[in-house]
Amino acid sequence: MTALSLDKSGRITIPTEMLAKLGLKPGDSLALELRDGALVIQPTSPARQKASPAAPEKPGDPPVAVRHAIARKNLQTPMQFIKGIGPKMAELLEKRGIKTVGDALYLLPLRYEDRRELIPVARLRPGTSQVFQGRILAADSVTTRGGRRVFEAMVGDASGQIALKWFNANAVWMKRTWKVGREGIFTGEVSVFGHQREVHHPDVEWLEEGTDVREIMAADPANFGRIVPVYPLTEGLQQKPMRKVMREVVARFLDDVENHLPASLLTPHDFMPVPAALRQVHMPPADADLAGLNEGRSQAHRSLAFEEFFFWELGLALKRRGITLEEGIAFQVTHRYTKQLARLLPFELTAAQRRVLSEIKADMMAPHPMHRLVQGDVGCGKTLVALMAALVAVENDYQVAIMAPTEILAEQHWLTIHRWCAELGIETVLLTAGMKGRAKSDAMARVTEGSARIVIGTHAVIQDKVEFKRLGLGIIDEQHRFGVLQRGILKKKGSNPDILVMTATPIPRTLAMTLFGDLSLSVIDELPPGRTPVETRVYFESRRAQVYDMIRREIGQGRQAYLIYPLVEETEKSDLRAAAQMAEHLRTDIFPGLRVALLHGRMSPEEKEAVMGSFKARETDILVATTVIEVGIDVPNATVMVIEHAERFGLSQLHQLRGRVGRGQARSYCILLTSGKLSEDGEKRLHEMEKTNDGFRIAEADLEIRGPGDFLGTRQSGMPDFRIANILRDGQILETARKAAFELLAADPELSGSDHVRLREELVSRWGQRLELGSIG
Ligand code: ADP
Ligand code: MG
Repeated sequence: MTALSLDKSGRITIPTEMLAKLGLKPGDSLALELRDGALVIQPTSPARQKASPAAPEKPGDPPVAVRHAIARKNLQTPMQFIKGIGPKMAELLEKRGIKTVGDALYLLPLRYEDRRELIPVARLRPGTSQVFQGRILAADSVTTRGGRRVFEAMVGDASGQIALKWFNANAVWMKRTWKVGREGIFTGEVSVFGHQREVHHPDVEWLEEGTDVREIMAADPANFGRIVPVYPLTEGLQQKPMRKVMREVVARFLDDVENHLPASLLTPHDFMPVPAALRQVHMPPADADLAGLNEGRSQAHRSLAFEEFFFWELGLALKRRGITLEEGIAFQVTHRYTKQLARLLPFELTAAQRRVLSEIKADMMAPHPMHRLVQGDVGCGKTLVALMAALVAVENDYQVAIMAPTEILAEQHWLTIHRWCAELGIETVLLTAGMKGRAKSDAMARVTEGSARIVIGTHAVIQDKVEFKRLGLGIIDEQHRFGVLQRGILKKKGSNPDILVMTATPIPRTLAMTLFGDLSLSVIDELPPGRTPVETRVYFESRRAQVYDMIRREIGQGRQAYLIYPLVEETEKSDLRAAAQMAEHLRTDIFPGLRVALLHGRMSPEEKEAVMGSFKARETDILVATTVIEVGIDVPNATVMVIEHAERFGLSQLHQLRGRVGRGQARSYCILLTSGKLSEDGEKRLHEMEKTNDGFRIAEADLEIRGPGDFLGTRQSGMPDFRIANILRDGQILETARKAAFELLAADPELSGSDHVRLREELVSRWGQRLELGSIG
């Protein structure tokens, strides 16, 4: 806190940054109040209203709230009410998700055409869309050497000629329209083939004999003499009427769009208020930055992205704040069990493990519930960190629930944790759907009466049926999934227990900020020492025999191998058959002397258990599996991972699969088999895997290639549907928005500053129920 002091004349000088925080300018009037010995500074309302230019209050104007309500209502106007829109067009627009003028305002152009001036034909350059005037010199339908019918017209002006081409056009109709001697204004992208410049499927505006081009262009300002927007269309919609409609919408309704962001947020980063930004993207001024517009990086685009991100991050900031205000358990770190465990371990914790553990402990000691996400690449030792956190809860006489996504994993966690806990004299219990009768009711009883201190099970089991005596900590092992739903349910099993979420999928920073922005984040960014990195190779089908030789060699040295088959759908029979046939083929034709087993997602939990158990016990040499194996299976003796049809997987998924080997001391291999019918991109993607073992780099690349939706792989991922913002393109803006949102909330936790009232209203209307906070709204 900055100390303020009185000078001799009784004045207090307030530092500028403090003024900015209060949203004050010289000349504003203030109200001072002494509250609990603190001086509370507040702007007095008349001065604020004068200072806020967006809402000038004139006598006779309807009150602000009424004006806002009217504006909001106006934006709900259905598109049929716009001039030039009939029922047919309204229907087409609706197909694109545009029902109201408000929707239309947020339909941004795909790209822009530079129609500011006519270019002499001789000066037309390839690469961008250009406008030129010319006369038709010749036009006819021709057949290319490849047998394709093409309609071709030569067009020229005083400076030169250029060819226009249409593929699959109706030749009869074209001939009737494209008559020699006719004049027009043409727009299109110029390309070069050999030495010939040509324009495919140009846009044309015919000129009547004797008319002046300048006049025509001036009379049609929507389409000429400016940078013209090109909107995304659906089949049946045409660019010109669409452009006309959009101009109409902008002209009539843009004034109803409100700017919710105070200048204090916009000015420092040179962002524009939303209405101005929307006007620019729909009707760019003649001096606009064309390249920026086309890349979605113009000042207007950036401003719109900022606004979208800002409200999202503000919601997250509020949620996070809501959590920190809730009362939770203040655990004490007694070291009773944690020290003992550290002594029992045959290794030291890595620096990253120690750092993350101390972050967790600090959260646990605080009197508010912990909501922390721990990310760490496969094999970095998350289980141990989770166990240490669990021990802190147990030291405080609380119970711990650990949820895993699959039965196999739950059991694996239990085996690890149970082994250590037995030595510490702590009772643990495993709960699975497969458990029956007495065993199950006994286990449940021990949880309810409280003798079981650490309870491990699948998500389903722990959520539905179990009652805890005194749950203090819930640990959710998400592995590769991005479920954001479990947290709430687990919370209700105790009274505001601490929550720790673990994920093995490195999440690119932008995605983490968006998706898990209300959680605190810890990253275990170091592997335990002594691991040899997995050697990764992309092999084409033709080298399959070599791959088999390598498997044989490794197994000959006492190792084991995985062979992964992709399943498009875990339920698809044909894929299952492929995996089953592969297992059979390997068993009988390729490795007759070896033990080959099959594991897939449609087997019962007991069957899976049995197969995994035998592989762990080294009773199986080769495990042919579908991607069920992906999640944290730990068999250190396995040193070969062969992935069939590797091109079908996402990079992150390949990385997860690869993480199943290289878990022991021995050198391990990951072979990515592919058919060879790969696109250049596809091949580059796979070679990325050869280059790096760094999960974060792979995740970034994967996100870039596939986009957030596919990267997350599930619609329920909680990823917001940004209309304009794009976390790949606008990562920097996201950072800015996040910082601004968190700072704003720190300075004005209730959003009660007069500058922030509208922010708050808008926040509530965007987030609605999702904020789940009684304190706001
Ligand atoms: P993750 O769940 O993060 O993929 P695990 O917790 O399964 O990783 O740990 C992988 C392996 O590394 C386990 O066998 C574990 O005992 C071991 N391990 C964990 N921490 C360390 C450490 N600090 N030093 C050496 N080995 C460790
Ligand atoms: Mg694990």
